Amino acid sequence: MNSYYEQILKEIYHDVQRLKDNGIVAQYIPELASIDPSKFGVHLCTSENENYGVGDHEEKFSIQSIGKVLSLALAFQQKGEDLWDRVGVEPSGNPFNSLWQLEYEHGKPRNPLINSGAIVICDILCSLHKHPHSEFLDFVRKVAGNHSIEYNQTVANSEKKLGFRNAALINMMKASGNIHNEIDEVLNLYYQMCSIEMSCKELASTFLLFANHGKLISSGEQIITSSMAKRINAIMQTCGFYDEAGDFSFKVGLPGKSGIGGGIVAVHPGKYAVAVWSPRLNKKGNSVRGMELLERLTTKTGLSIF
Ligand code: GLN
Repeated sequence: MNSYYEQILKEIYHDVQRLKDNGIVAQYIPELASIDPSKFGVHLCTSENENYGVGDHEEKFSIQSIGKVLSLALAFQQKGEDLWDRVGVEPSGNPFNSLWQLEYEHGKPRNPLINSGAIVICDILCSLHKHPHSEFLDFVRKVAGNHSIEYNQTVANSEKKLGFRNAALINMMKASGNIHNEIDEVLNLYYQMCSIEMSCKELASTFLLFANHGKLISSGEQIITSSMAKRINAIMQTCGFYDEAGDFSFKVGLPGKSGIGGGIVAVHPGKYAVAVWSPRLNKKGNSVRGMELLERLTTKTGLSIF
């Protein structure tokens, strides 16, 4: 047991828990608004598959936008570099559901980790697969090494009913020719992808794929090439926190991805994947305690990718 990480995680968890938690739980998805804001968990999984967790690290939550990294991985695995004809790799410097930049840039999203980009990725998956919902879930289960991972249909339906901005984004892209399938079919996949539930423990072990050069730790199977894993990490580093990506990079120094369910996952290539969950969010939609804890983790260990 590497008690080094265990000791640090315990210390920083308790330190951060004592701080005032100023954020607010995301309100625009009714099903998520009722979550207990005091939930707080962290789990770190090393590339030797050693596991350390503190707090609510085994409780499932809605991974939301963190799922965008997994849909990107599947689409990249299947389409290779052609993917970049439909979506860019530049940070947007804008909120995740921003509309104006997409209009200005003729329907080609800046990157696959904002809503418009993830919707294009879902469109690509709809074109590639006969049963995209089950094939995407099978992919996630395989990477997670866990067949119990599920969508939460109630969350997906609740979001679809009020997802007016996402409807605007996809309609704009359909008008520019960057959506090839039926709008409803693509949005259904997008909302299901966002509704996946995982615990910090499950998220950390799933994201070990990106810490382990695209290979599963359990079987050694190469799921995506090591170049693809590097590129996905680069996109997480520059685009994983929307208009707060610079701040996360500056303070934490790891590739990572947040979701409005309050989760954040971060990857230290060759070393570990770590997931934090705390539902109160800052103005940019990122978990307040999650950011704070990860900053302390890389400060205490003295290690980041830089
Ligand atoms: N499902 C959410 C949306 O589409 C995901 C946003 C997020 O987690 N940042 O708005």
